[in-house]
Amino acid sequence: MTAEAIPFMDLAATHAPLAEELDEIWRSVLSRSAFIAGSEVEAFEEAFASYCERQHCVGVANGTDAIELILAALGIGGGDEVIVPANTFVASVEAIIAVGATPVFVDVEPGRLLVTADTVMAGISERTAAVLIVHLFGQPVDMDAVLDLADVTGIAVVEDAAQAHGARWRDRRAGSFGVAASFSFYPGKNIGALGDAGAVVTDDADLAARVRSIANHGRLPDEHHGHGLVGRNSRLDGLQAAVLRLKLGHLDGWNAARVELHGAYQRELASTPGVRTLSDESDAEPVHHLEVVRVADRGRVRQELTAAGVGTGIHYPLPCHFESPYRRYATEPLPVAEEAARTVLSLPMYPQLSEDAVRTVCDRLSRAVLAKSSAA
Ligand SMILES: *Cc1c(COP(=O)(O)O)cnc(C)c1O
Repeated sequence: MTAEAIPFMDLAATHAPLAEELDEIWRSVLSRSAFIAGSEVEAFEEAFASYCERQHCVGVANGTDAIELILAALGIGGGDEVIVPANTFVASVEAIIAVGATPVFVDVEPGRLLVTADTVMAGISERTAAVLIVHLFGQPVDMDAVLDLADVTGIAVVEDAAQAHGARWRDRRAGSFGVAASFSFYPGKNIGALGDAGAVVTDDADLAARVRSIANHGRLPDEHHGHGLVGRNSRLDGLQAAVLRLKLGHLDGWNAARVELHGAYQRELASTPGVRTLSDESDAEPVHHLEVVRVADRGRVRQELTAAGVGTGIHYPLPCHFESPYRRYATEPLPVAEEAARTVLSLPMYPQLSEDAVRTVCDRLSRAVLAKSSAA
């Protein structure tokens, strides 16, 4: 049988309709040699700050640096603890360790696999400086309760919004709640560069200025050879900024397509035995960066899907506190994150996917799950 192959993600399909505009961007940036800083970066920063409903945006080299730069600019470092969910991409944890702070892993709730004020509370100690909230899979965390907890305890709230460009909790954007938020524009994110890129957004002008300075060799504002602190290089390229500004105009449309596709998945899978979907939460407007379900015997189900031409992913096969470099920070069992790591399976999700393809995926998934139970 030669079944239609359905990839997990299709960047070529995203870029094909933009080909002429992307060529024009390349010619324009090249003709002006506008490679680093300058008007393209400023224009994108202004547009993205406004999209996120924030006062300031600083373009940086990638999403991991964005987290690290926020923590560094807040003065978080040695002796400080930063709370982080165990089920996130390791980058969230790398950034904490990079500034010399200690990651404190906490669990998540089982419906959406996100932290809550309660799970965060379990990680608080006298040394807690901040919590890094991760809006995982495009789903916004319940920020009201988290902000209340932060008020009471005095810890800083930083958001890792690498998977949640445009999502809203109640009527506010993911990335607009904490003291600052980081974004990644890795090519596969909801809005991606043609390479690596990231951003920090905040309403705090001083914090934005510190991030900008650290990311640009510690330079003082408007000075090429005045260095106010020991910085590093984590700048956004002019070329990537121009590409991102073009793509930002499409982000809401792409996100709306993801919402439709998620709805189709939910309808198809509601009555599929053996497949658990994540909960929909009425206060959340997620942007479905990933379409995650949970199945038993995932390895086998995934293999059958691969054989049937359906691309899948696993986000993530191990909770961070089980990965060897981070085991030393593991203090206690985190059962929800640990169970999720054994059962999560990410199905194809990208704006150009068709609803027909979603039905095909669900059909093949339900066969794979049934094959498994009849074999058992
Ligand atoms: C992608 C991602 C990052 C890291 O972004 P990079 O641009 O790859 O450095 C951080 N956190 C989360 C949750 C991510 O998904």
